[in-house]
Amino acid sequence: MAVDYAPNPNLKIWLDGKLVPTAEATVNVFSHGLLYGDGVFEGIRIYNSRIFECDAHMRRFYDCLKAIRMEIAWTSDQIVNAINDTMKANNCENGYIRLVASRGPGTLGIHPFRTTAPNVFIIVDKIQMYDPEMYEKGMKIIIASTTRNHPNSISPRIKSLNYLNNILAKIEAIDAGCLEAVMLNPEGYVSECTGDNLFLVKNGRLVTPATHCGLLEGVTRGLILKLAAKRGIPTDETILARPDLYFADEMFITGTGAEVCPITEIDKRKVGKGMPGPITKQLMADFRAYIQSGGA
Ligand code: PMP
Repeated sequence: MAVDYAPNPNLKIWLDGKLVPTAEATVNVFSHGLLYGDGVFEGIRIYNSRIFECDAHMRRFYDCLKAIRMEIAWTSDQIVNAINDTMKANNCENGYIRLVASRGPGTLGIHPFRTTAPNVFIIVDKIQMYDPEMYEKGMKIIIASTTRNHPNSISPRIKSLNYLNNILAKIEAIDAGCLEAVMLNPEGYVSECTGDNLFLVKNGRLVTPATHCGLLEGVTRGLILKLAAKRGIPTDETILARPDLYFADEMFITGTGAEVCPITEIDKRKVGKGMPGPITKQLMADFRAYIQSGGA
């Protein structure tokens, strides 16, 4: 049966201050977000009608806007209200929010200030990143040959509309029969995955690449580090090389869409015993409990 990948036509999209049907939620072909990937975005979850880690997502969004010298007409509080309005308009209590700020339409050169006002839009929809079975049995991944952007080119810390670096690595993953790939930084050390952060467990310690390894500081990554500390699990944010991944006892990825998903095979090597490990399962349970409690 053919799968329909067309966007849901029945949504209400918040676009520059108005809620409009999907068909009317369009941007100009001269938009610099489209022409050059000049813009930033956030991917956020809604659990039980609450915006997950709202403050952290808003902080990152406005930090990224500042980094690319884009000013939008809406304050953080106004954006949060707009997200809540969009959730209500779509009767969505559990789902995914895509918040985008795109440099507006302008001249054909890349000059970012020869543009009209940025477009800001909010999509609230359902998301399922990975098969539920993967959360029980684990996922297999590869290490991609595509290097993560050098932090002095497009810093991975900026969640920009230019995801081609990640997409090229994702294509390698798909070609290898996987859905995620680890990306190494230009020095050859581990940075993150194409759309998720990476953690491993070694000798009872939870280890993840440090920010200076060139990665997006994921909101879920931050939460997992906090939950691990609460559990008394020692954590390290450090430099990891390819063999560290092959020698790991446990591994998992984190992301707003992915939540926490165990990794049980990497480059055809079993991670630990080839099953989700005890610390991974503990943190998955703690993550769920955190969501159920409304985040506290
Ligand atoms: N790294 C990349 C490249 C991402 O795009 C994302 C978000 N999908 C993450 C990590 C995870 O970040 P967060 O937990 O904030 O969703």
